[in-house]
Amino acid sequence: MPEGDTIHQAAARIGAVLTGRVPETIETPHPRHGGDRWPQRLAGRTVGSVDAHGKHLFVRFDGQLTLHSHLRMTGAWSVQRAGERWRRARRRAWLVMRCEGWEVVQFDGPVLELMPDSRTRSDPRLASLGQDILGESFHWERFVRRLRAEDHTRSIGDALLDQRTIAGIGNLWKSEACFAAGVDPWRALADVGDEEVSAIVTFARERMRRSVQEGYRARPRAVYNRAGQQCPRCGAIIRSAGQGENNRTTYWCAGCQR
Ligand SMILES: [Zn+2]
Repeated sequence: MPEGDTIHQAAARIGAVLTGRVPETIETPHPRHGGDRWPQRLAGRTVGSVDAHGKHLFVRFDGQLTLHSHLRMTGAWSVQRAGERWRRARRRAWLVMRCEGWEVVQFDGPVLELMPDSRTRSDPRLASLGQDILGESFHWERFVRRLRAEDHTRSIGDALLDQRTIAGIGNLWKSEACFAAGVDPWRALADVGDEEVSAIVTFARERMRRSVQEGYRARPRAVYNRAGQQCPRCGAIIRSAGQGENNRTTYWCAGCQR
């Protein structure tokens, strides 16, 4: 599943192609958007900016119209030279924008909508989001207040995935950041001190920012998707299990995460 660093990378790549320009063509091949007339509604409009908040991406056109995307488990954004082979089958494209020899393609939705720009702030799904872990500024006290307002019996691993508390962390970063901080992701929030939370979030923020700049090779690979292998720190066997109400997979080392 795409996490915040993936979405911020996509926003940067799409922004480099579209910002300050009018897409030459906009197509919505997916039947779901066939009757929405986006090509007509967006015709001639300049893209003012492309930005991300957590796992949400926004392409903001002049005239206060914004495309909002969330990839969930299945979607993808792709930016390539016109004529290059696409990453996925053409029939899976929901949106194609062409500009100065580039193609920006959104595959497989599943959340793709055109809305007045004001709704990107007022829509309950978006207004309730926590601070973006990749935001330019990050207010630690505000984040801790939100975290401590949650059910104290909830596990720290599950709480870190709640986008209303902090936006952008997914399974990989939750697992790797808890490992880096030496914190067992199954511990209840009530038993995790602020300094431990700080170690987790600081690691995730710093390494996710690096991943946006340098690409996936900058992602840590200590425990995520490594169940059954040896822990690089203590040699115990890495474990995995579904966690929280959505049963999202967590990876951890019971040997050195306390
Ligand atoms: Zn270990």
